[in-house]
Amino acid sequence: MKPSDGELKTASGIPDTASIAKTVSVIIEYAIKSRASDIHVEPRADTVQVRYRIDGILHETMTLPKEVLSTVVAYIKTLASLNSEDLRSPQEGRFSFKLPDKSLILRVSTLPVIDGEKIVMRLLDENAHPLSLEELGLEGENLSRVARGIHEPHGLILVTGPAGTGKTTTLYSILTLLNAPGVNISTIEDPVEYRLPGINQTQVNSKSGITLAAGLRSLLGQDPNVVMAGEIRDSETADLAIQGALTGHVILSGLHTDDTATAIVRLLDMKIAPFLVASTVKLVIAQRLVRRICASCRISYVPSADEIATIKTSFQLDAALNIFRGKTAEPKKTPITPVPTTHTLMSSPAIAGNMKIVEPVHDLMKTKTIMQRIADDPNIINRTMAEAEAAQTKKPAVPPPVSAKSQAPAQTTPAKLNGNEFMLYKAGPGCDKCSHNGYIGRIGIFEVMEINDIVTKMIVSRAHADMIEEASVREGMITLSQDGLLKCLRGETTIEEVLRVAHEIDR
Ligand SMILES: [Zn+2]
Repeated sequence: MKPSDGELKTASGIPDTASIAKTVSVIIEYAIKSRASDIHVEPRADTVQVRYRIDGILHETMTLPKEVLSTVVAYIKTLASLNSEDLRSPQEGRFSFKLPDKSLILRVSTLPVIDGEKIVMRLLDENAHPLSLEELGLEGENLSRVARGIHEPHGLILVTGPAGTGKTTTLYSILTLLNAPGVNISTIEDPVEYRLPGINQTQVNSKSGITLAAGLRSLLGQDPNVVMAGEIRDSETADLAIQGALTGHVILSGLHTDDTATAIVRLLDMKIAPFLVASTVKLVIAQRLVRRICASCRISYVPSADEIATIKTSFQLDAALNIFRGKTAEPKKTPITPVPTTHTLMSSPAIAGNMKIVEPVHDLMKTKTIMQRIADDPNIINRTMAEAEAAQTKKPAVPPPVSAKSQAPAQTTPAKLNGNEFMLYKAGPGCDKCSHNGYIGRIGIFEVMEINDIVTKMIVSRAHADMIEEASVREGMITLSQDGLLKCLRGETTIEEVLRVAHEIDR
């Protein structure tokens, strides 16, 4: 599949057009086969490096001889209708690429670098259908909150996270759910990434005067029901979005902040009056993408006491426990309303080192907490509810042994685990199913904030983001990293992966 260095030259040593066309075609086909999202063609001192971004990570894929660089670059620029004579300016264009079973758009950008011109091609599958919210990784209470929020008759729905965390995909999935005959949906985007049938999509084009703000203003005059504005970046766009939501529209937008509470504070920083934020924002979804481990070759293990202690710290489980118990570890800036002491999150300090997941059974049907979701699904904790109840009544004494089970099959039965143990998973050595990567695709981890009465009060009083988050958690919001932990317990990803992306911040 990989072209060897020699085959690109004719007898004279100069590559001919036919072999360049074939090489570019092979690079693209191989990228599609590898599920790559981007192709980077990068000049190095003596070679040309081709790298693919697969599941968010760049992989070196092939090396071409340096003498083909200018021809390959010129060929790709011609395909994308760019000026191939201009080697000094960054350029952007696109072209389509057809295979027997699918057609793709390749969005091309060029950039002069020290050893020549670098090309990045983003692969956009024209026929890709937007994923369902479940396929994105929304589930349980998070899914219910989104379903409630998007069916409000009007209001602002924000999807937030750093660049490259799947915000656009989530926005498209929501638009698809709202798309029905009789509903006018319009978007203003930069760029339009996918075409959605039945939806009026407008591309931002600053040269023609279609800025995001100008486009949004025009759209709001076109009697829409639902408007998606790619991303709120400034006060003007924020103000228009708020006005749109106030005047009876559903407005969807992306926002670059790290989590849900900072999205609220960002709007306030953009000079939107607190009462307007509180009365228009219905839902804030924060998200990240984690790599999904291959279920066919993943390796299960029982974490050691040390690892559990680290997990408890990293995921702030004790802090969450205290919140659920209505206590706070440190004095806070404003008083906190006590909450019912009915939720038990993780182990009590008395069983330090062990993580015991116990939820009183009588609370299960009444509460919507992270614990309910863990307890609802025995696979998450590899224990039955009966065991959980039994464990609650007796004092756990034996700490879990340091793992010797790392080679055990992934689906170890719950019965084989001691009361205090639980299973985690890591990527396996790779198999045919995952193209020997150990990972296969990505899945979202989410934090979904509903603007309820308590959060509304905090917004109006301009509370700090930490306070807004804490109040939301007390109301049952699952944080990003806690949603990630649930997906670790379920064998969908790893602790390392969740910690890696949870610390990605918008800079
Ligand atoms: Zn595998």
